Amino acid sequence: MIPVIDLGGTRTKFGLVDHGVVLEASSCDAASRGSIRDHLEEISDLLSGLLKGREKSFSDCAGIGISCTGIVDGVNARVLTTNGKYDDAVGFDFAAWGKQRHGLEVRIENDARAALIGEWRYGAGKGCDDLVMVTLGTGIGTAAIINGRPLVGPAFAGGNLGGHMIVHSNGRPCTCGARGCLETEASGWVLPTLIAEHPKLDASSLKALSKPGFKEVMDCADAGDSCAREILEHCLRYWGEAIVSFVHLLGPARVIVGGGLMNSPDRMLASFRGTLCKHGWGALKAVEIIGAEHPDNAGLIGAAALFHDREH
Ligand SMILES: [Zn+2]
Repeated sequence: MIPVIDLGGTRTKFGLVDHGVVLEASSCDAASRGSIRDHLEEISDLLSGLLKGREKSFSDCAGIGISCTGIVDGVNARVLTTNGKYDDAVGFDFAAWGKQRHGLEVRIENDARAALIGEWRYGAGKGCDDLVMVTLGTGIGTAAIINGRPLVGPAFAGGNLGGHMIVHSNGRPCTCGARGCLETEASGWVLPTLIAEHPKLDASSLKALSKPGFKEVMDCADAGDSCAREILEHCLRYWGEAIVSFVHLLGPARVIVGGGLMNSPDRMLASFRGTLCKHGWGALKAVEIIGAEHPDNAGLIGAAALFHDREH
């Protein structure tokens, strides 16, 4: 059994995972937290409560798995860079904390890479050693496994910055400092801007909705709203074309798509497959594109999967 923590943007999820199965999961607000150390202490107490409910304690566990936004050095259990979230996690010694506080090893990974490792071990990537995963959410997370090894690289950023692939030269400014990144064209955080700037918004039913999300855009598009339909097509096109680029760059056998924006998976996957079939190079046109098996608990299962070697 692995106690796990998913340091996400707005909520911190935590729970207990055993062989890819979430036994218990809960979450707390990430915004009201103090320092990263205080936050980890707070979650430790909550995890202790979950363990106690199963007549267990931290000493019964193989280690603590953490999934975190940002670039993460999984070898030394450090967060290297963040982008406005958990900035004080940079430089924090997670390994020393785990050892001092619980006598346990801490393994930490970038959230997108952890999600892919979780799908590889226990989900949609099982049995396949050449995978790309795209997580469509507030931001866009990407990760890759090539020849049975997670792509990491010397800066620990390998495969992780697909959301900041520049797809529109001199496009909108991005949170990363560049312009025209994939995230600035189509992502959860840019969606309100896409809606607000759309020339047909005045005639759209989206205008009357407070904070419409991607689901509302899809619903309005289905009801014949042309503004919503154009925004939907714009997003699907950019995501589909990005998947073509990832396939061309990395040559995987399978692409897994997950994240909170995948609220109509069959339809979105069909769109991405169509774009790959149209623009893919030779045999790469037929690379599988499938949905994540654990879209709601990707971070938790992924964090636990970092201890896959200890569980078997
Ligand atoms: Zn960017």
